[in-house]
Amino acid sequence: MRKLLAILLALAPLGATAHTQPVFDEWFEPRTMRFDYHHAGDAQSEEFYFADLHEEPWWAGSRVSLVDGNDYGNQRFRILDAATGRLIYSRGYCTLWDEWSYTAEAKTVRKSMPESVVFPMPKADVRIELWSRDRAGEWVKRFEQAISPRSYFIAKYPSRYDAFDVEVNSGDPAHALDIAVLPEGYTEHERGKFEAAARDFAEAIFSFEPFRELRDRFNIRAVWVPSHDSGVTLPGAGEWRNTSAGASFWTFDSERYQMTEDMHNLRDQAGHIPYELIYILSNTDKYGGGGIYNFYAISSAGPSAPSRREVYVHEFGHLLAGLGDEYVGGVSYDELSMYPPDREPWEVNLTTLVDFESKAWSRMLPAGTPVPTPLSPDRADRMGVYEGGGYLEKGVYRPWPDCMMNSLSRATGFCPVCVKGLRDRIEFLCR
Ligand SMILES: [Zn+2]
Repeated sequence: MRKLLAILLALAPLGATAHTQPVFDEWFEPRTMRFDYHHAGDAQSEEFYFADLHEEPWWAGSRVSLVDGNDYGNQRFRILDAATGRLIYSRGYCTLWDEWSYTAEAKTVRKSMPESVVFPMPKADVRIELWSRDRAGEWVKRFEQAISPRSYFIAKYPSRYDAFDVEVNSGDPAHALDIAVLPEGYTEHERGKFEAAARDFAEAIFSFEPFRELRDRFNIRAVWVPSHDSGVTLPGAGEWRNTSAGASFWTFDSERYQMTEDMHNLRDQAGHIPYELIYILSNTDKYGGGGIYNFYAISSAGPSAPSRREVYVHEFGHLLAGLGDEYVGGVSYDELSMYPPDREPWEVNLTTLVDFESKAWSRMLPAGTPVPTPLSPDRADRMGVYEGGGYLEKGVYRPWPDCMMNSLSRATGFCPVCVKGLRDRIEFLCR
């Protein structure tokens, strides 16, 4: 069925896929509706509970790319017109809860985390659906709820924080990729330090392809949210600090993994500006960070943080295009159930060879490349299908001996498969 659809799309005249998108003005107002919920369960089960609705005064996303054509992510949400059942908006994403469900703790503990999705303000009543993949990779609808945009319980809070432009290149947020930079662990007196970190972040991103060549598509703005304490929380070292994002190192007991569970709080802060993606800069020189597809990313912004700029770019690859990690080991998950050998991963830069033909990567291989491709010194800068990736030494393959999604090598940058994945995503979001 998927193959037939692909053939039909290929036969259709150019631009036909754009025409199948709903017309923005028919269905939406150019403001944001935010749906807050809780994601709960354990390794075996998964549930969702409604929290509340918010309205933000802008819509920063595309007014053309409303229904997501990609099948990226372990979660997705869909907005359907209540009267006709028509699908009018959708996005894939991943979450911290989803990662947690692969940890050893999730086998014995039931846990919930606050999560949130945003979409343009519907003109009429809609239904939201929350889906996730089961362990076989199949999509399962877990939750649905009716939403009326006329409800007076949709929260509209006035601004509490200052915001500033870091680098605004495109006047129209609809055709730009809008990034909200948020601070973590900077006190009232450290605003200058955060402003310098935000500029350094922008410079780092634009020093890598494909971001350098697509720089005019990006708007980077920051919200100034001071913390009570300076620095970051380090549970493994017994150091706790009261900070604006509430992040901590030792997430899932991995020392370098700094994350926050409170997505509702992050949205409250980012909602002060038009934005599509959230990037948090944390006031520490300690190595670390994390990035989750279409959720948020965070990393250490101290001037002496090791590989600071490379980590920005690596985590941004996860956040923007859902690129998979091309390295082996080093995480607290059950890697084998995350990337089981009998299932093709959805990430553009990883394959188990179960359905390699479905990947754009398979059509980018130079003629005569053996699959899988043996690693050898003369192949250091050649595309192939190299064993080792997705944290696993065996059974998962990566496109390049050493890409930014592998070892943070500034010299190689992103491999051509990752560059294409990033560029395609930017073009989709800026239509
Ligand atoms: Zn790559």
